Amino acid sequence: KAKKHLGQHFLTDEIIAKDIADALTENGYDDVLEIGPGMGVLTKYLLQKKSKVTVLELDRESVVYLKEVFPVEHLNLNTSKEKFEIIEGDFLKKEISEIFDKKQVAIIGNFPYNISTQIVFKAIENREYVAEFAGMFQKEVAMRIAEKEGSKVYGILSVLTQAFFDVEYLFTVPPSVFNPPPKVDSGVIRFTRKKDYSLPVNEKLFFRVVKTAFNQRRKMLRSSLKSFNLSETLKEDPIFAKRPEQLSVQDFISLTQKLAANDIGN
Ligand code: SAM
Repeated sequence: KAKKHLGQHFLTDEIIAKDIADALTENGYDDVLEIGPGMGVLTKYLLQKKSKVTVLELDRESVVYLKEVFPVEHLNLNTSKEKFEIIEGDFLKKEISEIFDKKQVAIIGNFPYNISTQIVFKAIENREYVAEFAGMFQKEVAMRIAEKEGSKVYGILSVLTQAFFDVEYLFTVPPSVFNPPPKVDSGVIRFTRKKDYSLPVNEKLFFRVVKTAFNQRRKMLRSSLKSFNLSETLKEDPIFAKRPEQLSVQDFISLTQKLAANDIGN
């Protein structure tokens, strides 16, 4: 029986499961980490790829199933050791560096919806390891990650993800292919880390600017960013007459540069 507090909605459609697994390219990473494999519906397609697959699952019952029933059906036991590893645990509490010694990892999952934004923030924080990231979210969350400036759902998650990754919205999945069905549509996205993913600004300041601006998303930046002690000259800069949803990622970078210079000037 699905456990609600673990966000369990099991996928029942094999074609969609394969499509999600295929959302990962096979380039640029050494290992695949699947978060929340459940009963392995995506896992079996991931195992057909060339990388090693490590799955991290919080639910003891699913872990037992994956250890006892799943291998018999889906693994060539001679090669299984190097190819497949099961870890019981909470993704939000595990360090990615504890799981992998190598750096280039692809993360995938049909993510538990209750912690999906936390999973994305953790991937962003650990971007040094995360070469690629693909998976299923509530459609609205998937769109929030993928949309550009001007969209209603463009926000903190969009800017922080797109600062470091190229994001693609791949396809929408209806509730009917899950057991139990969720209340809303789901969306599958992929993000690939940019070649140069270092920002030309202080990253802490960048994060703070983005979060502060969107905390009052209907206000002009002149007012929402008051706490940054804007100089009179800076207040006249046309960028401060805009609202955060009008700014591209690049605009947020130049905004941060201006605020850093303002700070030195003060
Ligand atoms: N991948 C399976 C599928 O597509 O049928 C299950 C998807 S279900 C939406 C999410 C899975 O994540 C569940 O198996 C749940 O037990 C697991 N899970 C929930 N919270 C977790 C966490 N913090 N760390 C790792 N796995 C978690």
